Amino acid sequence: MNDSLPDHPAIAYIMSHGYPEEQEPDDAWRFVCPSCGEELTPDDRVYKNNDGYVVACEHCITWEFASEVDEWEIKQR
Ligand SMILES: [Zn+2]
Repeated sequence: MNDSLPDHPAIAYIMSHGYPEEQEPDDAWRFVCPSCGEELTPDDRVYKNNDGYVVACEHCITWEFASEVDEWEIKQR
């Protein structure tokens, strides 16, 4: 056995805990929308900017044609 090789994290977990690391379904995947704070499900749609960051989700975003936006709505932003 070569002691200079570090154990794989999963192996190291088993060695220190005595059992494999279990992934709770609730903890395995969790995503909260950075815009509205909604906790998302894997099927929820998210919106990213061109830098790849999630900026919003389908719960807090809607879209319209620019021509349908009233002038007062533009001034609100
Ligand atoms: Zn959202």
